[in-house]
Amino acid sequence: MRTYEVTDEDRDLIKEAYKTLERARVPGNFFHTVGCCLKAKDGTLYHGVNCDCIHGSCAEFIAVGNAISSGCHDFDTIVSVHPDGPAGLFSPCGNCRQMLMEYSPDIKVILADENENIIKTDIKELLPLAWTRLPTGDLMH
Ligand SMILES: [Zn+2]
Repeated sequence: MRTYEVTDEDRDLIKEAYKTLERARVPGNFFHTVGCCLKAKDGTLYHGVNCDCIHGSCAEFIAVGNAISSGCHDFDTIVSVHPDGPAGLFSPCGNCRQMLMEYSPDIKVILADENENIIKTDIKELLPLAWTRLPTGDLMH
């Protein structure tokens, strides 16, 4: 797997994801357990938390939707966190990997490896032989 150096800036992104999770804590029936921070190529940070309801959404979807609704389409790096996750991080689920691949095939993802080391890699490494759009932008079927 191709990996990149995890920089101080990447560690700051992890802290930002935790701040997102802290801001989302509310008493009641809703549980926000995953925080996400998405860094755009211009350095702007977009945040998200999972929305846990009958048709809930992953934190990554919320962060990407936050960026897109703000007019940002150029993503650099994304990280998700969970206090009980390996190294305090949270690996994007398969559905989120596919969404990230479609919206930003060059995005880098920070997550923990099998030894709980924090790594940074390409989304393509996390979703080999992924379904993609045709070069025309059309769907394949
Ligand atoms: Zn997901």
